[in-house]
Amino acid sequence: MGQYVLLLAATLLCTSPAAAWNAAGHRISALIAWQRLDPGSRAAITALLRQHPDFARWQARGKGAEPGLATFLEASTWPDDIRRDQRFYSAGNEEPTPTLPGFPDMERRLEWHYIDRPLDMLPTTRAPAGELDRRLNMLVSTLANQGVQPSERAYALPWLIHLVGDAHQPLHAASRHTADGESDNGGNALLITNPFNMRHPSMSLHRYWDDLPGPPWLRDDRLAGTVSALTERHPPTGGSSTPALWIEESWLIARRYAYPESEDKPPTISPSFHERSQEIANHRITQAGYRLAELLRALFRPAQSAGRKPAGAPGESLRPAMFHVKQQCPNANAEPWRASGRRAVQSVGGC
Ligand SMILES: [Zn+2]
Repeated sequence: MGQYVLLLAATLLCTSPAAAWNAAGHRISALIAWQRLDPGSRAAITALLRQHPDFARWQARGKGAEPGLATFLEASTWPDDIRRDQRFYSAGNEEPTPTLPGFPDMERRLEWHYIDRPLDMLPTTRAPAGELDRRLNMLVSTLANQGVQPSERAYALPWLIHLVGDAHQPLHAASRHTADGESDNGGNALLITNPFNMRHPSMSLHRYWDDLPGPPWLRDDRLAGTVSALTERHPPTGGSSTPALWIEESWLIARRYAYPESEDKPPTISPSFHERSQEIANHRITQAGYRLAELLRALFRPAQSAGRKPAGAPGESLRPAMFHVKQQCPNANAEPWRASGRRAVQSVGGC
C-alpha cells in the first residue's frame, strides 16, 4: 500500500504540466537570497509575509528550518503550489471560485510565469503570450509603495520572489515558432527523449529544463549543501540589472543553447547538451538568488541601515531603478554559464 502511494505520488509529480523551475530551483534561489539579507530586511519581509492569508500554511509546512527562512522558502514556490490548490481557479478554463479573505481573487494567474518571446521574428509571428516582464515591474512598484494596502503588498511578495526565479529560466522567456506561426509554448509542445532520466525518458523540452536544478523534494541539509556548492562554483559577479535584462539574457540563452540539435524524432538529449544545460541552469538559479537578494534589500532594508530617507509616507514609492545600480557591458564571445568570476552574459543592446 505504502509503495503504491509513493508510486502514485511520483507519477503525479512527473505528469503535472511543466510550469517553471521546479520547487528545487526556487528554493535554491530563495535560500541564496535569504543568506545575503541583513537582519532588518529579513524581519521586514517576514512581517509582510505574516499578513499573507497562507502564512499559517507555510509555517506548518516549513518545520525544522528557522521560522523566517521556512516561510520565505515556502513563499518562493507558492505561485506554483496554487496550481494544484482547489481554492483557486484557472481563468478561461474554470469558473471563478469564491474569494477568500485576504486574497484579491482566487485566480492562478498562469500567464504571469512566462513571456514567450519568439526566437526568430517571422512575418507570421504574433505578439508573445505571457506577462512575466510587465508583472515583475508591477510587483516591484507595488512593494516599493508604502501607500499600498499591506494585504496587497503581502500578496505581491511571494509572486516577486517566485518570478525572479522564473525570469532566469531560458524557456520562460522564449518560444520557437513554425513557419506558419505556431508556437511551441516555451518548449512545452516539443517532446524530447532524455536518456539521463531512466524512469521518464520522454518529456517536453520545457519540463527537461524545469527539472535541471534537482529533485523537487530538495530541502533542509541537502538544500543547504546544494546552495553551498553552487555559490562556491558561481560567485557573485557584482553589478546589477533590471528584470528586462534578466529576460533578455534568458531569451539569448534559449536562442543559442536551449534546443537540442539532434536529427532524431523526437530529438534526443546528447551527453554534451545535457552537461552544458545543467551548467547553464546551475548558473541561472544562483544568479537569480543574488539578484533577488539585491532587489529585496532595495525594497526592505530599514531606512537607517540603508542610509536613505524613510520611505513610509503614504503614496511615496521607491523607484524600481533603485536596484539598477550598474550594468556591465556584455561580452559577446563569453559563454554565459561559465563560472569565471566576472559577469559574462550576452546582450543584444545597451552597451
Ligand atoms: Zn513559475
